[in-house]
Amino acid sequence: MKIVAAKKILKANDQLANENRAAFSGRQVFCINLVGSPGSGKTTLLEALFAQWGQRCAPAVIEGDIAGQVDAQRMEQIGVPVVQINTDGMCHLDASMIAAAAQNLELTGVTMLWIENVGNLVCTAGYDLGEHLRIVALSVPEGDDKIIKYPAIFQRSDALVLTKIDLLPHLNFRTAKARADMQRLAPEARIFEVSARTGQGLPELATWLVERRAAAAPSRS
Ligand code: MG
Ligand code: ZN
Repeated sequence: MKIVAAKKILKANDQLANENRAAFSGRQVFCINLVGSPGSGKTTLLEALFAQWGQRCAPAVIEGDIAGQVDAQRMEQIGVPVVQINTDGMCHLDASMIAAAAQNLELTGVTMLWIENVGNLVCTAGYDLGEHLRIVALSVPEGDDKIIKYPAIFQRSDALVLTKIDLLPHLNFRTAKARADMQRLAPEARIFEVSARTGQGLPELATWLVERRAAAAPSRS
């Protein structure tokens, strides 16, 4: 019987992820891995950010889903170049899928490449895709206990975006607790409170992302 250790697979993934990152950097494409549960508002957040930037940003998107093209169709509708990855049951994206998807995207002129990961707070944490920045979206209806219950994904993210913040008056979500839990796990991470519906918090997030992109590729600020 042949046994392949999960550690070895992850090591191979890390190597490929580093190659992806180098390729993106070489083309001055800033790559962001957006993770979060199904229904946390990842696609809606992308739509809102792209509307916020308008012509000032040239995004492209890789959509990861187990099945279907619902989110990719939403990107096409707003004129954003998109490639859909269907994982066929796999619950996360890996670096080899991103390498293959990127080959099907025209990256010339693209400044920001977004990867919308499969909705999942568990194993998406373990897979570096070659991104420059990882953002975790947590919608307030999901509850303020998720950071405690799924620490790895929060610990390994550069920013926490609390989404659907306009629903707070109807919920028992404790924003201060979520902030404290996140700060304990990831002291360097930024925390944003956003409503794609009302626009609250969007400008702050949009500005921070542009700054991070500029810091990563100074020649194209
Ligand atoms: Mg989505
Ligand atoms: Zn998985």
